[in-house]
Amino acid sequence: MKPLALFGGTFDPVHIGHLSVAWEASELLDAEVRLMPANVPPHRSPPTATAAQRVDMLRAALRGQPRLTLDTRELERSGPSYTVDTLEEVRREIGARPLVLLLGADAFAGLRSWHRWRELFNVSHIGVINRPGIDACIPVELERAVAARRTDDAGVIHAQPAGRLIELAVTPLEVSATRIRELLAAGRDPRYLLPAGLFDDPALLAPYRVTPAT
Ligand code: ATP
Repeated sequence: MKPLALFGGTFDPVHIGHLSVAWEASELLDAEVRLMPANVPPHRSPPTATAAQRVDMLRAALRGQPRLTLDTRELERSGPSYTVDTLEEVRREIGARPLVLLLGADAFAGLRSWHRWRELFNVSHIGVINRPGIDACIPVELERAVAARRTDDAGVIHAQPAGRLIELAVTPLEVSATRIRELLAAGRDPRYLLPAGLFDDPALLAPYRVTPAT
């Protein structure tokens, strides 16, 4: 059975960096990839758009292709959504099917601050996606903790349910939601940094636009 890969994030808003790396990760791992927006990110300031607005943007962005889907389970849960709790829940649903948590290199570098981070490997593999323009030095202690788990063979990920770490070399795209929010707030129109579907309805990007003073 194809691995299931979960790509979590704030998606405030979803941008072409997210979609392109998720798509390529799905090709490299031959996996089903689900984008999974977070409700109350435990280690981040609150998103600009509401959960419902971020889901509307994701739905618009994912329209018209079969490979990437949406998983809103963390938004349906109250309280902080710790990744390890989510992965344990997914593991109970999927039996022995391989599960992969996809993380950008910046997110992976901060893994040791995550709730019960070592236990992630009991239920999931981790796929680390390279990300340009961001200082994502892996701390020595993190590297020491994960070194024995490393593989560069997607076949190993298919062959066991959890426990390994794989680096996924995707096309580098230096795009961030922070930059896109700045551009929109400045009255700019970052048309080609965002999926085309986000321009179908002006209400989708309204949370980021400054309303003129009255
Ligand atoms: P922000 O700028 O608001 O921090 P972001 O662009 O980093 O947002 P998130 O929703 O926080 O987007 O990211 C979700 C996941 O996607 C994280 O694991 C992050 O590392 C990864 N990611 C986001 N943009 C890229 C990119 N351009 N290339 C590779 N990975 C990315």
